[in-house]
Amino acid sequence: MIKAENLYFRYTEGEAETPFALNGVNLEIKEGEFVVIIGHNGSGKSTLSKLMNGIHTPTEGRIVIDGIDTSNEDQIWEIRKRAGMVFQNPDNQLVATIVEEDVAFGPENLGLPSEEIRHRVDEALDTVHMSAYKRKAPHHLSGGQKQRVAIAGILAMKPKCIIFDEPTAMLDPSGRKEVVQTIEHLNKNEKITVIHITHYMDEAIHADRVLVMDRGKIVMEGTPKQVFSKVDELRALGLDVPQVTLVSHKLKTMGYAVSDENLTVDELVAELCRLS
Ligand code: ADP
Ligand code: MG
Repeated sequence: MIKAENLYFRYTEGEAETPFALNGVNLEIKEGEFVVIIGHNGSGKSTLSKLMNGIHTPTEGRIVIDGIDTSNEDQIWEIRKRAGMVFQNPDNQLVATIVEEDVAFGPENLGLPSEEIRHRVDEALDTVHMSAYKRKAPHHLSGGQKQRVAIAGILAMKPKCIIFDEPTAMLDPSGRKEVVQTIEHLNKNEKITVIHITHYMDEAIHADRVLVMDRGKIVMEGTPKQVFSKVDELRALGLDVPQVTLVSHKLKTMGYAVSDENLTVDELVAELCRLS
């Protein structure tokens, strides 16, 4: 679905040469995968996500989305149709004054017939469980609801892949939960390839694969169990691990025979029961 080869990117600020924000990224994401990207602030996560749907094009190297090289400027709408993006602030993504009009905005720009647009809007709102709000004004919704409407707007374009750049960062715990469940549903049931950038480690535990970025590079990669068992390495990169993993790690360093690959409360409890 996505393939990046030897990818470098630097922002230009007037004449000044800024350091590389992406520093040689190689990456392959398969269709249907659920990939989480973590990394401290400034490690290049948002920059990488913006190269994944052609908002930025590489300074060096290349990135191909569903067979289309993003440097190919006349294919930009083909790329955006295939790879949608959801950002941190839902308020910046909602453009219309009525929910259903907002969701219709993308397909309208694709020039689809109005019957098809109506169908897609209803389907997308249904998928994110927001049909009951279709005639409401977005500014009356909670943060989690707004973000789900933003997701519906992307779904109405029928993308194969959605890139989420910290979509839960501005939400309260219940809004976060709604959005995380929606993302997981899209991957499992709608078979959409998901790239989810987050700084909440517990949002990474159900991923197929976790990528860790540092200084514009992917420095660790593996299943959640493989990555989060490396507690000390992650800490050296300025990152936390899920709380259950941390407790397991502490117990292990205290001499208890506990695996440090526990990610969920149930897994840890099962191990502790076995010990006692
Ligand atoms: P992250 O999303 O992991 O926090 P970013 O991709 O936003 O990281 O940033 C990577 C690097 O690029 C940082 O050094 C940041 O300061 C720089 N950067 C990001 N956006 C811009 C911009 N619009 N102009 C110049 N530099 C930028
Ligand atoms: Mg960012």
